[in-house]
Formats: sequence, structure tokens, C-alpha cells
Amino acid sequence: MTIGLPGYGFAQPSTPPLPPPRPDRVEQPAQDQKPPPAAEADKPRSPEQIEADLACIENLGKLGIRFEKRPPVQDNACKIDNPVSVSGFANGVEVSPASLMECRYAEGLSRWIGDVVVPRANEHLQSAPKKLLIGTSYQCRDQRSGTKLSEHAFGNGVDVMGFEFDKRPPLTIKFQAEGSPEAAFQSAIQKDACTIFSTVLGPGADADHGDHLHLDMRARKGDYRICQ
Ligand SMILES: [Zn+2]
Repeated sequence: MTIGLPGYGFAQPSTPPLPPPRPDRVEQPAQDQKPPPAAEADKPRSPEQIEADLACIENLGKLGIRFEKRPPVQDNACKIDNPVSVSGFANGVEVSPASLMECRYAEGLSRWIGDVVVPRANEHLQSAPKKLLIGTSYQCRDQRSGTKLSEHAFGNGVDVMGFEFDKRPPLTIKFQAEGSPEAAFQSAIQKDACTIFSTVLGPGADADHGDHLHLDMRARKGDYRICQ
């Protein structure tokens, strides 16, 4: 059985979609009367969450990230609370194409580019990255294996296809020739991605990740990470 919605070609039986926020509900309850407990799905974002969202947006500016703020995404069980479309990072690294993601994820990706990719490219390839080539960013779909929604469905993961540089040809993520500078670069940026992301899958992980690095920030119990 399939559900014929665009970008949502699978059955999703359980989690009901959240309704949109209710800006019409602003009346204050009487002083001595508590409001009835709202169902989890009915709760608007708390003041703390809203404050954290705003702080994140402010931080993206401080990090030199080029981005546009976007309205919250809600598509069946897929959602992004605080989405941004990122088109570039500090150090002149362009994001191609501009990609939709959760603000906190954009912070992580910026750290990976600045703290890992730029220095490793300098070290192994004697070049500066100019473009981050993205395959999939936000997409309302299941994980490739399993029935859970992918982190792509929450703007919490991207697939990196490769890079363009100032002084050398583009590098495509794939099995690199053993002992080559490309292999050393790719292996280093993949390994160090595990200090920032909680899921890192690339060539060698399984048949689905032979041509890209999947980097996501899935929250797991005990900060458990998958790095392959
Ligand atoms: Zn992916």
C-alpha cells in the first residue's frame, strides 16, 4: 500500500500530524483558574523554546552563515520548528544548492566546515573548499532501513555529495584510491564529523551510502553515536 502524496511515498500509520500553532488563543485564564492541560500535540512552542530559537538565529549571524529564516514546516509527521535556508558559511564556502534545515543543525554543519573541512582540505589537498555540494537536505521520508522517519524529515540531516575547491578539481564522495590525498581527506572529515554529528554514514557503511556522507543529529539515549 502506498499513500500518493508527493515526497511521502510510504504508509505512516502512527503519529498524527500536529495542528498549526494557535495564535488565536491568547486570552489569559482567570487568576484562580488553571487552563486545562493541553495534549502534547496542542502545545504551542514554550517561551523557553521560542527564546532558544531566536538565540540560534542570532548565533547563525554571528557565525557568518548566509541564510534566510523560513516559516515552520509541518507536513504530516515531518516538521522543522525553526527552519533556515542556508546558502553559505564563513570562509567563503557556498552551499549548493541552498538547503533547508533546522537552525541548530545549521550551527553544527557550520562547525564541521570551519573546524574540520577547511583545515583538513588545507592539510591534505593544499586547497580551500569553495562549495559544499548537497544532495538531500529536508525530505519527508522514512530511514533507508527501518520504519522510523529519517532525520531528513526534521531538517536534522544532510547528504554531502562532495566539494569544490579554489585550486584543484572537485571531489566527489566515493571510495577513494587507497593511499591518495583524497582518501586521507575524506577519511579525516568523516572521522571528525563524529565529534559534531550523532550519525555519520559514508562509503563503507552500507550499499546506500556509497556516494555521499549522511550527517545527522538524531538524539539518542546516552549520547549514543553511529559512525561508519
Ligand atoms: Zn541521508
